[in-house]
Amino acid sequence: MSRSRLALLVVIVLLVAAFFAAGGQRYLSFETIKAEQEAILDYYASHPWQTALGFFVAYVAVTGLSLPGAALMTLVAGAIFGLLWGTVIVSFASTIGATVAFLASRFLLRDWVQRRFGHALRAVNEGVAREGAFYLFTLRLIPAVPFFVINLALGLTPIRTATFYWVSQLGMLAGTIVYVNAGTRLAAIESPAGILSPGLLGAFVLLGLFPLLAKKALDAVKARRVYARWKRPRRFDRNLVVIGAGSAGLVSAYIAAAVRAKVTLIEKHRMGGDCLNTGCVPSKALIRTARVLAEIRRAPEYGLKSAHAEFDFAEVMERVQRVVRAVEPHDSAERYTALGVECLHGEAKIVSPWEVEVALEGGETRRLSTRAIVIAAGARPFVPPIPGIDEVGCLTSDTVWALRELPRRLVVLGGGPIGCELAQCFARFGAKVTQVEMLPRLMVREDPEISAMVMQKFRDEGIEVLVGHKAKAFRVENGEKVLIAEHDGAEARIAFDTLLCAVGRVANTEGYGLEALGIPVTRQRTVETNEFLQTAFPNIYACGDVAGPYQFTHVAAHQAWYAAVNALFGGLRRFRADYSVIPWATFTDPEVARVGLNENEAKERGVPYEVSTYGIDDLDRAIADEEAHGVVKVLTVPGKDRILGVTIVGAHAGELIAEFVAAMRHGLGLNKILGTIHVYPTLAEANKYAAGVWKKAHAPQGLLRAIERFHGWMRGG
Ligand SMILES: Cc1cc2nc3c(=O)[nH]c(=O)nc-3n(C[C@H](O)[C@H](O)[C@H](O)COP(=O)(O)OP(=O)(O)OC[C@H]3O[C@@H](n4cnc5c(N)ncnc54)[C@H](O)[C@@H]3O)c2cc1C
Repeated sequence: MSRSRLALLVVIVLLVAAFFAAGGQRYLSFETIKAEQEAILDYYASHPWQTALGFFVAYVAVTGLSLPGAALMTLVAGAIFGLLWGTVIVSFASTIGATVAFLASRFLLRDWVQRRFGHALRAVNEGVAREGAFYLFTLRLIPAVPFFVINLALGLTPIRTATFYWVSQLGMLAGTIVYVNAGTRLAAIESPAGILSPGLLGAFVLLGLFPLLAKKALDAVKARRVYARWKRPRRFDRNLVVIGAGSAGLVSAYIAAAVRAKVTLIEKHRMGGDCLNTGCVPSKALIRTARVLAEIRRAPEYGLKSAHAEFDFAEVMERVQRVVRAVEPHDSAERYTALGVECLHGEAKIVSPWEVEVALEGGETRRLSTRAIVIAAGARPFVPPIPGIDEVGCLTSDTVWALRELPRRLVVLGGGPIGCELAQCFARFGAKVTQVEMLPRLMVREDPEISAMVMQKFRDEGIEVLVGHKAKAFRVENGEKVLIAEHDGAEARIAFDTLLCAVGRVANTEGYGLEALGIPVTRQRTVETNEFLQTAFPNIYACGDVAGPYQFTHVAAHQAWYAAVNALFGGLRRFRADYSVIPWATFTDPEVARVGLNENEAKERGVPYEVSTYGIDDLDRAIADEEAHGVVKVLTVPGKDRILGVTIVGAHAGELIAEFVAAMRHGLGLNKILGTIHVYPTLAEANKYAAGVWKKAHAPQGLLRAIERFHGWMRGG
């Protein structure tokens, strides 16, 4: 604790102690006040200003120090100063006192509480940031919630001091008037508790709920206003129209059909979207072949004299398409039609909040009316406007799959997951790959030592990894393509034959009606949604890459559940999209998988953590498989068996992480993982050993010493 905090704490403790030592609680008793009422009034008559000032200061002190007696003093204010001045004095004194207590609690405890429990308090913090004034107003109006508890508790939250002050003053006004008014008839009152009859209490509760009800009404009015310029159809042909048949759209439509809603799914290009056609599926198929090749090259490590693979890159790419075709039926129009989804092939355009126009193949246009719409239009590769990029030409994750000839010298622009996966594949097939990243390391979202492991492996495999290199321009010089990059203030020139751009993906938000409807997009250029995945129009939802913030197939599917269920049943109950446990993996060699926080993020958010690390180089199965490299890194709450996040690097990290995802999702700690039998010898044992590292660090040393003495005693020593 800092000196200033300690000093304030000491002052508060001394003041509170002095209050009780001087018998303050006796003076602030109902009986004493009633007995002294005459004397107090006499003093007030002769010294009105001094009485008012002294009372004001005493009130602020009592409430600021959270001492008992504020309700009684409010009665006294009525008895001495009457209804008007009593209310004015108490209203300001109580609000100032409350703010003093609020600030003291904030100064002394907030940082500590947020550091220690910030993760658990995230929802509370977000709620307070969003609707803190409403909550505070409600609490202030309901006298059952003690005054001092509200002051101290709100000090620990992110609510602004000014908001706290004015909402408190306004919220407490009704209660203040009731108490001050009762005080004007002090002689007739038997006890302060008797002031609030059940009827009056009920009225306060209703008054407290009023702002929340008013907010709901306001939301409804706002919603009506966004619809004002549109004519709502009297009836709808469909319950749901889904735009885009990628991961998000397919799951939305599937759920709607499963609950027997009438649903239409519109896709302008290929069913399955990016994941099936240009994303997860082809990339993983290519990675597999590249890995087989890499393993063949490592034959001597496995005790084989030699092994050799001959391949034709065009055949490899044909195999990738075979895999896509093999998975295709899972996402096909035939399958979804059989499930009860109406599938239309055409380009959708939202023409009103309840109508979607579809430009079908062959030129026909259909207009569909629907109660709700789910936008699942996905994202596309972002090609940065670097001078000369159009002249040299550029492949993206959309177009790379058409390659049939292996590039000789390939520049991969971007050090994120897609860039890394593809850079390693092409290098393994024999391309001379240069990976160029502007930031100081690859996979910058991961912890530095995790990035370092991947970068080391890439360099070992012959990839030239150029981090801290900012692409400035592309040129064609003497018939050769050249990338000009800036590095440490100097110019670097990289000659290449083919450029693959993987610097991020941008949501598809244009050209299908969002602009005309006025549906806003975020700064990240995704469709803006609330926590229920509703856009500015409450019956229009968005999910998947078009909504963000994550761009993964499993998150798109996860969001799709919320979007579809809220769209169909939101009138009865709405569900907030839950992003508390989101895993992902990058399928490089070594694979990198993560769930929850890593060290970088924990530091950024001020979340305290402990790290337990298990090196996979020590794992029997990894040694047997010649895969003895990587790490399981677990972050836990200090001194507690609660997992904050896990990063795994190594073979099959994407599979291994599942155990931690389940643990985090269901609130299981490392003790439970340690207490679970893992098959020997498997890579999954690494998870158990990481839990063991944590357990060892938390072994009760005192108890172990006592047991050691016990064993010594048993040996007769
Ligand atoms: C190379 C690569 C590898 C990847 N690897 C992984 C991975 O390993 N794991 C993972 O989880 N994620 C991975 N991803 C990300 C994953 O592919 C996406 O997160 C996922 O496909 C998003 O699904 P979606 O439904 O939101 O969008 P999409 O799949 O893009 O689907 C959107 C669909 O909407 C259609 N559409 C758009 N506008 C209209 C319109 N007006 N009318 C009709 N149709 C329209 C589009 O044609 C498209 O088919 C990878 C991505 C890439 C590029």
